[in-house]
Amino acid sequence: MINKDFRYRMPTQIIFGIDKVDTIADYVGDKKTLLVTSGGWLRRGLVDRIKSLTDSVVVAVCTDVKSHPEFKDLEKTYKDIHQNEFEQILAVGGGSVIDGSKFFSVYNENKDAKFVTDLIKGKIEKKGYKCIPIIAVPTTAGTGSEITPWATIWDMEEKKKYSLHLPELFCQTAIYDPTLTLSVPKQITIQTGLDTLSHSLESIWNKNANEITVSYAVKASKLILKYLPLLANDLDNIEYRTMIMKACMYAGLAFSNTQTAIAHAMSYYITANKGIDHGIACSFTLPMIIDTIKGKYDFIDEALKEIFGELSSDKLRNMLHSVGVSTDFNDYGIDEQEFENVKKSLANNQRAGNSLVVL
Ligand SMILES: [Zn+2]
Repeated sequence: MINKDFRYRMPTQIIFGIDKVDTIADYVGDKKTLLVTSGGWLRRGLVDRIKSLTDSVVVAVCTDVKSHPEFKDLEKTYKDIHQNEFEQILAVGGGSVIDGSKFFSVYNENKDAKFVTDLIKGKIEKKGYKCIPIIAVPTTAGTGSEITPWATIWDMEEKKKYSLHLPELFCQTAIYDPTLTLSVPKQITIQTGLDTLSHSLESIWNKNANEITVSYAVKASKLILKYLPLLANDLDNIEYRTMIMKACMYAGLAFSNTQTAIAHAMSYYITANKGIDHGIACSFTLPMIIDTIKGKYDFIDEALKEIFGELSSDKLRNMLHSVGVSTDFNDYGIDEQEFENVKKSLANNQRAGNSLVVL
């Protein structure tokens, strides 16, 4: 049964459209700004472009956030950047850049990184902190971090994923400019697109689902199903890029209020132990999950039928294969015995706890 009573929160201002990055000064204003971005964007001149658009408010630039950001690296960078005084963070990049920015945005009186790490790892209570506002400009269409109140941080020594989750971590503004995704290579386009699909489907088989989130999730899933295979074969097509970015936004509007579920819960083991990229690790399992859940909840069946036109995982399986993604666990080095380990990793996992699907 879907939740009859619900509440929904989205404090992030959303700006969407071609070349919207050129209007960035309207949102940045005259506040002292830390620009967090990737080395790639620095080389391609985006940093200079933003600096010229924003009238010398950028007091420092950080290009040190790696993909799948880890505590040890973020802590080091945290110390350096907080030598500067800044009132807001402008995060221009993929999900890792935005997640890293969220780590940097949290501070206490002493501005020490250990405080943030301890807060994330649950060693201290979630209090006595402040958050610096973030303006996010996503340059991939996938993670949705620009409109969620959490960030994913990894401890690869522990082989564990942590979540920094605070109600204040919703970005102040998210600027979606599809032109920024034109340079994203094919594999990353596919990986991030599939992450979006997983976010939307996961918000459907979810204990926190409600009418609002399901309607956004259906919209997002349909867009991915239709446009991701087209985009994979025509990467310069701005219409397809726009549709996939819209899907990412709708998925964010859905799962920001439900969190993810079982596919993500399984994916963390697969990424940490098999080195499989997040977008693939959280999506190749989706057809199996649909086969497990179909016929059990009316509202899920209805949503799946609206997305796929039938109550079956066939269309999704075909779509994944068409973009070169196997749905066979063995192809990821997971045999039956290892699948038991995957299942074991779900115990006490909060994302698994959200799931209406039980394996
Ligand atoms: Zn994800």
